[in-house]
Amino acid sequence: MTAPPDIVQVALPLPLLQVFSYRVPPEWREAVRPGCRVLVPFGRRHLTGVVVPELPPDPLPSPLKPILDVLDDTPALTDELLRLTRWMADYYVCGWGEVIRAALPPGLEIESRRRLYPGHPPAEPPGERAAAVLRFVAEHPGTTIRRLRQELRFASYALLHRLVARGWLQLEESLEAPRVQIKKEQHVRFAPAYRTPAAQEAVLEKLRGARQRALVTALQALRLEGVAEPTRAELLARADASPATLRRLVELGVLELVEKEVIRSPLEAEPVPKAAPVTFHPEQQAALDRITEAIEARRFETFLLHGVTGSGKTEVYIAALKRVRAQGRTGIILVPEIALTPQTVRRFRAHFGDEVAVLHSRMSDGERYDTWRQLRAGRYPIVIGPRSAVLAPLENLGLIVVDEEHERSYKQFDPAPRYHARDVAVYRAYLNGAVCVLGSATPSLESYLNARSGKYTLLEMRRRAPAVGHTPARLPSVRLVDLRHTRLVNGNPLAPPLARAIAQRLERGEQVILLQNRRGFAPVLECAECGWSPHCPHCSVTLTYHKVQHQLRCHYCGYATRHPGTCRQCGAAALEPLGIGTQRVEEALRALFPEARVLRMDLDTTRGRRAHHRLLDRFARGEADILLGTQMVAKGLDFPRVTLVGVVNADTGLLLPDFRADEHTFQLLMQVAGRAGRADRPGEVLLQTRNPDHRVFRYLLRHDYAGLARELLAERHQLGYPPYARLAVLECSGPDEARVAELARSWTEHFQQVCHQHAGGHLIDTLGPTPALHERLKGRYRYHVLVKVPRRTGAPPLQPLLRQALETFPPLPRAYRLTLDIDPAGL
Ligand code: ADP
Ligand code: ZN
Ligand code: ZN
Repeated sequence: MTAPPDIVQVALPLPLLQVFSYRVPPEWREAVRPGCRVLVPFGRRHLTGVVVPELPPDPLPSPLKPILDVLDDTPALTDELLRLTRWMADYYVCGWGEVIRAALPPGLEIESRRRLYPGHPPAEPPGERAAAVLRFVAEHPGTTIRRLRQELRFASYALLHRLVARGWLQLEESLEAPRVQIKKEQHVRFAPAYRTPAAQEAVLEKLRGARQRALVTALQALRLEGVAEPTRAELLARADASPATLRRLVELGVLELVEKEVIRSPLEAEPVPKAAPVTFHPEQQAALDRITEAIEARRFETFLLHGVTGSGKTEVYIAALKRVRAQGRTGIILVPEIALTPQTVRRFRAHFGDEVAVLHSRMSDGERYDTWRQLRAGRYPIVIGPRSAVLAPLENLGLIVVDEEHERSYKQFDPAPRYHARDVAVYRAYLNGAVCVLGSATPSLESYLNARSGKYTLLEMRRRAPAVGHTPARLPSVRLVDLRHTRLVNGNPLAPPLARAIAQRLERGEQVILLQNRRGFAPVLECAECGWSPHCPHCSVTLTYHKVQHQLRCHYCGYATRHPGTCRQCGAAALEPLGIGTQRVEEALRALFPEARVLRMDLDTTRGRRAHHRLLDRFARGEADILLGTQMVAKGLDFPRVTLVGVVNADTGLLLPDFRADEHTFQLLMQVAGRAGRADRPGEVLLQTRNPDHRVFRYLLRHDYAGLARELLAERHQLGYPPYARLAVLECSGPDEARVAELARSWTEHFQQVCHQHAGGHLIDTLGPTPALHERLKGRYRYHVLVKVPRRTGAPPLQPLLRQALETFPPLPRAYRLTLDIDPAGL
């Protein structure tokens, strides 16, 4: 396909499904290529978009606006990333430009801002509000509209518009440089005539001031140490000289200044550790051999590496990556949350040293930009990062690893693209003829089914690796603490058996991890006497309590019922909202064990950029006895002195109104249990529960993932949930609740009509609209429509129908929005 050279298609970072045509003025014809960023006019604004390889529409819109600037010499996106992002836009039914924005580092856009300046003085006296606006602009000429409206909340767009129309205010649009720039630093070196030692000696003889001589000798000394061109600051500090002395030497032509780019890297300061060699155990070797075979054949293949915690999965990733590097190919390692997995990064750096880059959102914008540019230039062949790293600009990919593939953090929730990094990883591997390894001790049911059906290759490791210098670590023993028969005194959340176990560890000088899971906290009721919770009769999920209406509701199908008042199972009037915070647990610990050193790890205590690191390092160094926290404490940590893991309320996760509640709870509990007894000391896990007969605990006690997976899959099949169905959630949001509900209803009807026109449309189910779980967020009401289609032959593909329904739906009123979430993580 060849496009006319004077027209290009541009993807813009907007929630719009189409791309836009622009004219290319002759002076840009050479420079403009697919993947290049361009500055274009759009409406009354300017936007930074990316040229995409699409044919122009027929007929062309007219008049065509010209592109104003080409911002890249080398395309920011490779052809491969253009293909990948295009696929994501289709699959997730969102704007191509929105996906591209996620693939580029933030802060590079040239932004246009509208600024206000004083105009003519008013002839007649203005109204009170108008006068206040004019006064503000006179005091702050060039203010942005946003800033003005922050200060003067009554300043509506209509009012500003009137003032501009009368000429009392002037509106100017200005383009502002990107927020993130390449950082440069000045370095000092000898001018060409003084590069030989003889010339330097000669000039030292001639130089008058002692300070000038000191500076020249300092530069000589640094050269001898191998620093030929120190930074300005470095040299001045070494010579204890002033900027004036340096300036003088530059004027005399002895020294010269050169500007060099500074690479801002979060890794620079950290020393590279040494790798300890391991001899693979048979299961490990078998897994590696299968993966290696696909790598050597340069064949696309996806593996599910199902291995218990500590079975040596990370060692397998490292060995596979070595094969790929030996071929000159590159690799991406995805981890759920990089701040929680510093040990993983260290281990990869121990083997691959400076080949490893990290890329994540806790880095500064400058660090992200520099790392991204280095990756784009091929400087690093390996990148480790959370979900967004799946879009890193590596070429010649041979391997993508998704560690802990079942983790929810791989799914982006907001904003679009609402992608699942695991699924994107598989597709990207396919585009590159690469291998994708999904690793987990408790795979998602999606991946597990794919492995059982032969779409992925299943590799299993059932035993823990023999840790170096220790006897083989065994899996910890798991015990339940039945809270139904334990009266918790004064709301103390720790029952006697757990308190006793903690006391024992403290006496022995061992460490304890306590988990208080609050993930996705929802207003769910639980009977304090018997542990019963109200469930939806149709959907197998818990009902949520809506205080105002005193109702219980299902967020899947909309079923609603009155608050039952008493427990249906035991009759007690003891239905209470579930879930207490980590702070309450901390208070209880301090009261019970005043001498124990407790570290609390939750959203409040981990705000800083390296706060996680610091907390975990302190615990690793033995500066605390108890690490108490939310599900953060369950992730990838390896502390040999931890012999007890306690879960304060193991039921919390089970009672979330989510069809994956059991799956997620099992995964979390298995993972946190894996933290106990990693080295030579046996580990113990205590779970406090009011539902000791629950199937999740039954399988957990036996470490039986496969058994639970079988049971859950059968149930999903029967109810028509993933992985046997594909789900999508349409969210309608806006400021007025009745209007939002009405729009959601009419969209549902519209969508049903679209489905009707297509054969197989009858297989598509729509449920709702229902108010969202947190129905009002930031002053906006949100309603959901759940769309469900079975995944079997003959069923229509869902995305084209959703796209068509969105494209043909009448324009929305201002401030109302429709957004789609394909394969939602929860509702
Ligand atoms: P996983 O990723 O499955 O949790 P790791 O790869 O982190 O497991 O291995 C757990 C521990 O065992 C690590 O300290 C690792 O270095 C060590 N280890 C892994 N494989 C072996 C082996 N074959 N021999 C000795 N130690 C090993
Ligand atoms: Zn009860
Ligand atoms: Zn329901």
